[in-house]
Amino acid sequence: MTTPTMFSDDLKLTPYWWDDVPRPALPPAPMPAKADVVVIGSGYTGLAAALQTARGGRHTVVLDAQDAGFGCSTRNGGQISTSVKPDYAALARRFGREHAFRIVKEGHNSLAWVGAFVKQEGIDCDFRIAGRFHAAHNPARYEALARMLASQPKGLEVAAHMVPREDQSSELGTDAYYGGILYEHHASVHPALLHQGMLDRVLQAGATVIPHCPATGIDRDATGFRVACAGRTIAARNVVIATNGYTGRLMPWLRRRVIPIGSYIIATEPLPLGVMSRLMPRDRIVSDTRKVVYYYRASPDGRRILFGGRVSCNETDPRRSAPPLHAELVRLFPDIRNVRISHSWAGFVAYTFDQMMHAGQRDGLFYAMGYCGSGAGMAGYLGTRIGQQVLGRAEGKTAFDDVPFESRPYYWGNPWFLAPSVAWYRWRDRSGH
Ligand SMILES: Cc1cc2nc3c(=O)[nH]c(=O)nc-3n(C[C@H](O)[C@H](O)[C@H](O)COP(=O)(O)OP(=O)(O)OC[C@H]3O[C@@H](n4cnc5c(N)ncnc54)[C@H](O)[C@@H]3O)c2cc1C
Repeated sequence: MTTPTMFSDDLKLTPYWWDDVPRPALPPAPMPAKADVVVIGSGYTGLAAALQTARGGRHTVVLDAQDAGFGCSTRNGGQISTSVKPDYAALARRFGREHAFRIVKEGHNSLAWVGAFVKQEGIDCDFRIAGRFHAAHNPARYEALARMLASQPKGLEVAAHMVPREDQSSELGTDAYYGGILYEHHASVHPALLHQGMLDRVLQAGATVIPHCPATGIDRDATGFRVACAGRTIAARNVVIATNGYTGRLMPWLRRRVIPIGSYIIATEPLPLGVMSRLMPRDRIVSDTRKVVYYYRASPDGRRILFGGRVSCNETDPRRSAPPLHAELVRLFPDIRNVRISHSWAGFVAYTFDQMMHAGQRDGLFYAMGYCGSGAGMAGYLGTRIGQQVLGRAEGKTAFDDVPFESRPYYWGNPWFLAPSVAWYRWRDRSGH
């Protein structure tokens, strides 16, 4: 393929974050024959669980099919919100008011958890309470956001205010939106530095992390489980499955319940500081109300725009996912139409049929996954809770423990229905919904 001029000469097809934090070269660790806990997946979920179990005195082994942190946890946009997608009213219809309250509260807990964790552990990862500008893509959405803000359920209020269109330039240098809402406590982070900080602490706690070691089977025996990996097996009392959007054939029950969807980002070349301060004067994280969402922010050094969206369902070539993102970027900010892309990358997030994250136990195996594209905070939070559950601690209990994890007939892990659904949502976004 010829290189379109929108790409810089040294275009990288790896996450921008990996420039600062390359995938770690871990000390060689032989695979033990036995462990107390085997964690499968070394993203935020797996590492947070492992941190609990290792510090709780359990011999913990973390396996990853690829490099440590190969999945979403070092690829994401670094935008941390309250994560839970269904609103209180929808949750109350399904679960009743008390349980709905607890579920929404878990979203608040997850946001608070990241800030507290980073502080307590002293992890230097550009964590900042940046505030999120959630922009309305049409007037009806602006009104809906204002109604939602005015009717926040008692006890679940979040700090937020409306920004009308006439004041929008104080938040964002574009006329493409119809105002929006500012969530004051949402945060930004350098996702790979956060991951590296977690990895360092897991290793310091005495856990073993083994990359390039895909778990290929789990069997039960009288004392626990046997995890097959690289032609050998590890006997483990407990197993945590933390594979999210990369969940494969290992556990068909989970595979039937998560829907892998591609999420794509580009980074621009550095822009002049004057331009950045006009486009993003308050250095917020940004998203918009379209169903087929776009999310963006400045890089931590304030020089580039990192611009992400669901421009495809399963494209694996980041050269192909970049042009539609670039087109949307310059539609929003026409002044930078000549800006070139320095990085383009993607990862697989995990959606679920009820748009909720799920965590708990199945057949004695612990799991947490299905963050529906919003796991930057929630994954570490639920990983922590699952680690505490493994230790049998009461604080591991969550509002997700008793939530049924649904599948659908004829779904075995290959989301054949995605392309038509995304096309339908994209049409709705364009036609004023
Ligand atoms: C481009 C992109 C942008 C995003 N932006 C945001 C954002 O701004 N805000 C936000 O909240 N969320 C965002 N997300 C989502 C967020 O990153 C994820 O929800 C979160 O990182 C999930 O963490 P995890 O540990 O559960 O999974 P992952 O970090 O994906 O880790 C799963 C790991 O499991 C491993 N694995 C799979 N199968 C096996 C096996 N059989 N054996 C061993 N290992 C296995 C994989 O190799 C992988 O490393 C984004 C995701 C992407 C891809």
